[in-house]
Amino acid sequence: MAKRDYYEVLEVAKSASADEIKKAYRKLAIKFHPDKNPDNPEAEDKFKEAAEAYEVLSNPEKRQRYDQFGHQGVGGAGGFGGGGMNMDDIFSQFGDIFGGGGGGFGSFFGGGGGSRRTKKGTNLRVKMKMTLAEIANGVEKKIKVKRHLIADGVTFKSCSACQGSGQVKKVVNTMLGQMVSASTCGVCGGSGQIVDKKPVDADSRGLIVKEEVISINIPGGVAEGMQLSMSGKGNEIPGGIPGDLLIVIEEIEDKVLQRDGNNVIYDLYVSFIDAALGASVEVPTIEGKVKIKIDQGTQSGKMLRLKGKGIKDINGYAKGDQLIMVNVWTPTHLSREEKEALEGLRDSDNFKPDPGNSEKSFFDKMKEFF
Ligand code: ZN
Repeated sequence: MAKRDYYEVLEVAKSASADEIKKAYRKLAIKFHPDKNPDNPEAEDKFKEAAEAYEVLSNPEKRQRYDQFGHQGVGGAGGFGGGGMNMDDIFSQFGDIFGGGGGGFGSFFGGGGGSRRTKKGTNLRVKMKMTLAEIANGVEKKIKVKRHLIADGVTFKSCSACQGSGQVKKVVNTMLGQMVSASTCGVCGGSGQIVDKKPVDADSRGLIVKEEVISINIPGGVAEGMQLSMSGKGNEIPGGIPGDLLIVIEEIEDKVLQRDGNNVIYDLYVSFIDAALGASVEVPTIEGKVKIKIDQGTQSGKMLRLKGKGIKDINGYAKGDQLIMVNVWTPTHLSREEKEALEGLRDSDNFKPDPGNSEKSFFDKMKEFF
């Protein structure tokens, strides 16, 4: 089935405010909620479709990507995040829609809701150190993770303590009369299933720990603290869906190049002689050294730009630049002969500063560049 436009799904205009989007979703979530539409797969599809649309349009970053690139921009096939929400994700969204955590929604319809949730295995989290060069162009990385997996040959049977519902109900007598409280079954941990037969190396839940090597394509342009998620690559759980593998990016600071968004900045020092006479100098870039020309009469503070030598934009195809800031180095030690040579030039008109006649000031140039 072709995906419908998210704005169409939520019945809002493309220019809708965050508040309008929230209201529209709330209306649809109530209309198509599974508790109000039992055994109605069409309503369930609508419910999920609305949740997915809301998930994207309620997030300014995702919404912008969606506006720009459509469904492709926010996940879809094999991408990060987005796509394929399960009921658990959807219910966890309700915290900010209906206030006060997912439970608030259950009480909205007088209980229920909770028992319908799919159990999900725990997420695994790994840190990924990345160099500037890897960040600039993206990279394929292999990571070792220890996952809890359901062992081969394990069989399950329905939990007798909760009759497979995963929840136990307790009747409590209070001053206000009898109250029924439901809680997660302690025997099966809420899955509704317990292990029947298992291989010897599996634990009581039927799980084994297995080391796996997972390869992941990290897109260019990621940044410190950014979290990528690979759906279903976390820990497995009996009677539920596997958790996710979360990859947290750590930038290794580069010794010579400084990152500024998608640009990289390099501080170049040239001698006073090179700045006055002009020179060809080598500068490091992410992709190795390149030669650049320093014009005769270059002032300290001049910015040079190497187009496209920066970092790929995470949302698109554009690439940042390398900015080279020229610093003219004033000698701090001089021999007697050098001093004499310079003394001879002291009164020359050509050596007297004349900023009014030169190029724009440093600050004017900064404004131009950023
Ligand atoms: Zn149970």
